[in-house]
Amino acid sequence: MAPEGTDLQLNTPLQYLKGVGPRRAADLARAGLVTLEDLLYRFPLRYEDRSRLQPIASLEPGQTASITARILSCGLRTTRRPGFKIFEALVGDPSGSLRATWLNQAYLREVFTAGQHVVLYGAVEMRGHGGLQLTNPQYEIVDDEDVETVHTGRVVPVYERAGAVTPKVQRRIVFDALQRLPPDLPDHLPEPLRLRYRLPARYAALLAAHFPPGDVALEQLNRFATPAQKRLIFEEAFLFQIGVMARRRTAAAERKPVIVAVDDRIRASARQVLPFKLTRGQRTALKEVVDDLRRPHPMNRLLQGDVGAGKTIVALLAAIVAMENGLQVAFMAPTEILAEQHFVTIARLLQASRFRVALMTGSITAAERRQRLAEVGNGSIHLVVGTHALVQGDVVFKALGLVVIDEQHRFGVLQRATLREKGLHPDVLVMTATPIPRTLALTLYGDLESSVIRDLPPGRLPIRTIVKPESRREEIYAFVRAEIDAGRQAYVIYPLVEESAKVDLRAATAMADHLALEIFPSYRVGLLHGRLKADEKDRVMKAFAANELNILVSTTVIEVGIDVPNATVMIVEHAERFGLSQLHQLRGRVGRGRHQSSCCLIYQAPLSDDARQRLKAMTETTDGFVIAERDLELRGPGDFFGTRQAGVPTFRLIDVVRDRDLMDVAQREAAEWLETEAPTPTALTDLLQAWSARFKLMDVG
Ligand code: ADP
Ligand code: MG
Repeated sequence: MAPEGTDLQLNTPLQYLKGVGPRRAADLARAGLVTLEDLLYRFPLRYEDRSRLQPIASLEPGQTASITARILSCGLRTTRRPGFKIFEALVGDPSGSLRATWLNQAYLREVFTAGQHVVLYGAVEMRGHGGLQLTNPQYEIVDDEDVETVHTGRVVPVYERAGAVTPKVQRRIVFDALQRLPPDLPDHLPEPLRLRYRLPARYAALLAAHFPPGDVALEQLNRFATPAQKRLIFEEAFLFQIGVMARRRTAAAERKPVIVAVDDRIRASARQVLPFKLTRGQRTALKEVVDDLRRPHPMNRLLQGDVGAGKTIVALLAAIVAMENGLQVAFMAPTEILAEQHFVTIARLLQASRFRVALMTGSITAAERRQRLAEVGNGSIHLVVGTHALVQGDVVFKALGLVVIDEQHRFGVLQRATLREKGLHPDVLVMTATPIPRTLALTLYGDLESSVIRDLPPGRLPIRTIVKPESRREEIYAFVRAEIDAGRQAYVIYPLVEESAKVDLRAATAMADHLALEIFPSYRVGLLHGRLKADEKDRVMKAFAANELNILVSTTVIEVGIDVPNATVMIVEHAERFGLSQLHQLRGRVGRGRHQSSCCLIYQAPLSDDARQRLKAMTETTDGFVIAERDLELRGPGDFFGTRQAGVPTFRLIDVVRDRDLMDVAQREAAEWLETEAPTPTALTDLLQAWSARFKLMDVG
């Protein structure tokens, strides 16, 4: 593969590459790929061994094989089953012929024509009446002149399709581009590190990751465990860690206007509001938070604790310390319902103190809002509870010292940027009941300190979890009646997914009616969902909290934070449709009081394997951290937080589950490199530029 001329650079825009016209360039841009570097870091999804293409005559039923052949004839065949169509192609090579069939893919009519040269990859099966066939094989039409070097005769990369850029097209473009790139690419990995871990140089690694040499095992490639792939994973992890650490340094250089002090008077003031004895976990977390408050640079702390662990009181005690130092506190929740709930709790606890608390949500009148804004501005209101509108909007504090953000960790990280833009450097405490697996914590929150409350307040009874098919719903209803007759309350949760929101909403509404009229006619049933107006939601929630409603039918708006200790039954309908962490959150709505609580997961059969595993995990553990790890393994990191959220780094090659160990090494080495090599400012700037370009991260720190 002698280079024909090394006229390309990593930053060459893709439209200048051979084979990329305006249409393909646009499709690539839509996939976020602009430069050659972008394209080279879009790695294959998998690899296919086409080095040993098999002659058709040698195929045996039961094996998975690649063949290259010509299409002799093809067409659509209808079957006896109405609406069921089979696309069939007779293909041949010099050794023989066989049939390939695709079920219900009529559009293949437009794809294949007789005479085409194709590569097929799939399972070889015996046909009903003798002979062999490939069923639903992967296919590629290979009409290029250089079939033998790029698309067959080797282990080939298979990419994700991007519009008009098919796997084959990308393979061709990448192959050409690699020939024309100078082999001495600048390498972000420090040389000594590369040598110590025997990592290939950057160009060699890129080449081998796209077009593996003949002696590499396919299985190793598909595990992304070849030296070339590991080097690229390590490179990504290393750059990421350097970036995170540099961000930490920047944060450490920030200075707060007021440094908090703690003395006996303040301790007494805090003790006065405390309604119970803190658990050991709460005490440790509080100490960590207060230690941060006393430092000169702003706190960035994540407070993790399972549902019901008692995070609120820890935050409130920290708030008292801040307020005793003449600072104001903003307490933010993701929804208005939660904000109001926090407001009620906090206002009650601070009733006897001299501190004034205000609620700032959409439910107050314009006049009230004006009044409160003025009082926050002149400092006579000390603690404001609200939604994120608090720091985003027009609220101006006299001396904002502490921001507490509940149940919205990503949001919390983003907020710091907003605050800094406004010239504010308060301490920030982000609380989450979504325990974050260690690996994700490392990658997403590498620049956050973290406190974890692992214990629960005393006297809690573990929640019983049962899983039942829909057909057994009567047993559960009988159980609900018994609980309500004993004075308790129940939640019934319906899934609401974005794509079918309307249908689901109807289902939830119909369910509420059905339960109210037919199943529980003598009980009071309320309905809560996201489309209700704020005051309506509020009314329903308050009625439930006051035990004026026995049963609350709800969509997942109930998910986070709601605290009604008298509710002891959580029924989740269509439990198979919920993610594991979400189920755990829902379960956490009960078991908050002195009574034994139960969580009934009702599913609709048949269950997929994944769903079965999720439900099984729910019965096996109530430990949120175990659940989170399992969830991450089942779903993969991309989905862990539901939809992808702004600011969550998207790695190109790293899989945080698969590559845990490499990430640990990279973190250690990055720390050591920063420490011992004392990189020159330019070296560091170069790295950081590569880092932020690579991860397309805005500066969220
Ligand atoms: P979460 O961590 O899920 O936000 P909360 O702060 O809402 O939990 O606390 C859950 C419940 O436990 C609340 O009713 C709270 O008053 C109570 N609680 C918290 N800490 C303790 C404690 N140390 N002893 C007794 N009850 C507590
Ligand atoms: Mg909470």
